[in-house]
Amino acid sequence: MMTAHDRATGILSIDLDAIADNWRTLAAHAPNAEAAGVVKADGYGLGAAPVARALRKAGCTTFFVATIDEGISLRPHVNDARILVLGGVLPGTGADFIGHQLIPVLNSPEQIGLWSGFAAAGGRPLPAAIHMDSGMNRLGLDETAVELLAADNRRLDGIQPVLVMSHMACADERDHAMNRQQLDRFTVLADRLGVSAPRSLAASSTIFLGADYHFDLIRPGAGLYGINPMPDSPNPLRQTVRLHGKILQVRDVDTPQTVGYGASHRFKSKGRVATIACGYADGLFRSLGNRGFGVIGGVKVPVVGRISMDLITLDVSAVAPAHVHAGALVELIGPDHDVDALAAEAGTIGYEILTSLGRRYLRDYSGGNT
Ligand SMILES: *Cc1c(COP(=O)(O)O)cnc(C)c1O
Repeated sequence: MMTAHDRATGILSIDLDAIADNWRTLAAHAPNAEAAGVVKADGYGLGAAPVARALRKAGCTTFFVATIDEGISLRPHVNDARILVLGGVLPGTGADFIGHQLIPVLNSPEQIGLWSGFAAAGGRPLPAAIHMDSGMNRLGLDETAVELLAADNRRLDGIQPVLVMSHMACADERDHAMNRQQLDRFTVLADRLGVSAPRSLAASSTIFLGADYHFDLIRPGAGLYGINPMPDSPNPLRQTVRLHGKILQVRDVDTPQTVGYGASHRFKSKGRVATIACGYADGLFRSLGNRGFGVIGGVKVPVVGRISMDLITLDVSAVAPAHVHAGALVELIGPDHDVDALAAEAGTIGYEILTSLGRRYLRDYSGGNT
């Protein structure tokens, strides 16, 4: 254990109890709905298996992944839970869905045809969710497709609908006009389709738009991992990740020296630079060059110069020298600098930061048993 920590160039600490707490908090906001857990993209980069096991212990029995392979990998970790695959069924994958007890989210008339055909071939009904497009124009049945199904119910033969769902485009903006429009559109389309199944509209942000949006099942992802679902309000959720990078070298610098590729930062006075053993190959985006921050001993330290593949450079002139030495850790994500803060500096969103977290970090999981 100590050797692994000694060797580690970056340490990613993941708090499974905080993730379970966030699930409970989100569930409590929609007390009349089932709370599922979205663990696509390897649990937003934090590990789908440990995250799903922790959520299962907290009481979550429905999981969403994006791809069939994600579903197959997840299956043994949550043996008694439902796993829905958002991308739906692709030609040739029917047997994989059945073999691993995965439920496709059917997004198009073609997917409905495939699944219905597969059910007919097997001689037994097969569960599926049906996805309506209420305004994103991305995935899901449009009005024409819904009319087609409403006019000819046999197209759904063999399909046992377990969920009718849609997804929101602007839910992180509380007053966006599209929110109410999509809610109305979803209701019209779902009524028109006329299958009796639980309904679901809400991902993390949508949960905070009010009870009208909750329906029978909520599908939070981002909020589980501590991303603020309503960026204009204080974050009601706990941080789940800490990322520490290790200092490889500290150097004294003076004007007119520069640092890094492109000599993009020039020192105006005497100072100290710490070089950290993490870079863009670890998910610290190049856009953080001369813009990002770390934290050492409670002091915010700016990134100076460009981000390299395996290294970043921080101006640590303001930090007490005792905190700055080879082997010391710098907080890159943590209580003093959360994932949304790092995302803002990088010009992106917390989702992209988490799902880009590198594979070279030592992953340190805690909790997950309650
Ligand atoms: C990713 C996704 C979610 C989860 O969204 P968050 O904003 O991360 O909570 C829910 N539903 C669908 C269809 C998704 O694609």
